[in-house]
Amino acid sequence: MFTKSDTKRNNVYMKGEKNLVNIIKKYRSDVDVDTVRLAIDFAATAHKDQLRKTGEPYINHTIATSVTLAELGLDQATIVAGILHDVPEDTEYTIEDIEKNFGKEVAYLVNGVTKLGTLKYRGMERYIESLRKMFLTMAEDIRVIIIKFADRLNNLQTLYALSPHKRKRIALETLEIYAPIANRLGMEKIKGRLEDLAFQYAHPEEYAWLQTQIVERYHEVEKHLKMIRRQLEVELNNANIKYESVEGRGKDLYRLYKKVLNHEKDIGKIHDLIALRIIVETIPQCYTVLGIIHRRWRPFKGRIKDYIAQPKPNGYQSLHTAVFCDHGEIIEFQIRTKSMHDEAEQGIAAHWHYKEKGTSKEIAQRLEWVNELRKWKDNIKDNQQYLEKLKIDVFQNRIFVFTPKGDVIDLPESSTPVDFAFHVHTQVGNSCTGARINGHMESLDTQLRSGDMCEIIVDKKRKRPNPDWLTFVKTSTARSRIKSAEKSRYNLPSLLDIGAKIKRKK
Ligand code: MN
Repeated sequence: MFTKSDTKRNNVYMKGEKNLVNIIKKYRSDVDVDTVRLAIDFAATAHKDQLRKTGEPYINHTIATSVTLAELGLDQATIVAGILHDVPEDTEYTIEDIEKNFGKEVAYLVNGVTKLGTLKYRGMERYIESLRKMFLTMAEDIRVIIIKFADRLNNLQTLYALSPHKRKRIALETLEIYAPIANRLGMEKIKGRLEDLAFQYAHPEEYAWLQTQIVERYHEVEKHLKMIRRQLEVELNNANIKYESVEGRGKDLYRLYKKVLNHEKDIGKIHDLIALRIIVETIPQCYTVLGIIHRRWRPFKGRIKDYIAQPKPNGYQSLHTAVFCDHGEIIEFQIRTKSMHDEAEQGIAAHWHYKEKGTSKEIAQRLEWVNELRKWKDNIKDNQQYLEKLKIDVFQNRIFVFTPKGDVIDLPESSTPVDFAFHVHTQVGNSCTGARINGHMESLDTQLRSGDMCEIIVDKKRKRPNPDWLTFVKTSTARSRIKSAEKSRYNLPSLLDIGAKIKRKK
């Protein structure tokens, strides 16, 4: 059994440890810090002589990973697993050693992170493969993915130490794989941080260009913003509304970049460069504040969005509006409650936070799958159903359908067995006559769902797809194959004719 470090505690890691412990005390008072310290000793011993590419001791990286997890309010097992996440892959110590010292749950999480390995973005095929891996891991325990995000975040922070080639690859992976998944999980803040860190390495020229563009604009807008904030605070005080904060905020850079691309690179056309965010106590207050703003300044038509009544698919809730301020400058406002704010920034991770603080009324209004997750955490026996639900909701517009051999085919939502058949193979699509879904015969226009197992019944004598299928297929692949089969029937010589010609030439 591991008890105490036999390595000398050096100042660098003492500082890191102190910082981590402080953050834990702030966000998760229920976490046992002695266990956390022991985990740091263990990891420091295991990574003893290893240095990061930056020249720092390796342990700094794993402590930094755990700091992110603690800030997100994750539980003890996850924080400890964050400290130990590189032990099995990079040191002589094994998963068994971790289990012996820190228990099954921690070992399970570390093992999950190790199994996930590095997700590499190398073209579309590998991309789908990585997504699948992520997706299957996520279905097992979402905390593994969150550790992976925290790990990646610190890797990006120290990316400058790597070769330009590696920098670019890691940055692209982040933009193509990690950020979209963080987005699906509603983890806005992590997503923004990952994207902004990756942006400068993935697209250095565009990054530099945007930097110079915004600096000027920011100065302009900020002047007005200060004034508006003051005016608003007076109004809110008059109305006797307690607000937690009224703050200006720069937009995430990468998100802004994508927006600029939509506006033909004209940054002058972007009105929400800086937004004022107002956090109040209750939902009725959100609407009252919206009214106060609209009475004071003229709202910009078409820019009032009620994401409280109609949350975004990832669960995001807020009221948005943009108004013309007294100088004709357009300013965006975002109004939300504290729990909406936490949810918006932390997404699924906010769940652990709330559990600790006790339940809030607004939890019920959050994403159903977050609630499912909570139920699952409370009742671990029943997790299969939760997993099914999570699979469906996290990948809202993609479904994952299994072949009888266990391969996964991913398709857009409401795809049918015909779409599935064409994605398996053109010939399977052309000669398909029926489908067995989860063991039952179903019609070919049945809508498939994530997790279904689909077996296509083929008739080898059948050469062409049925043109009627065009009325219900969802994928462009199926559509174009059916159409081209139709064309060949009328306009082109049949395969038999071509075969005959070739024979004659011989
Ligand atoms: Mn790592």
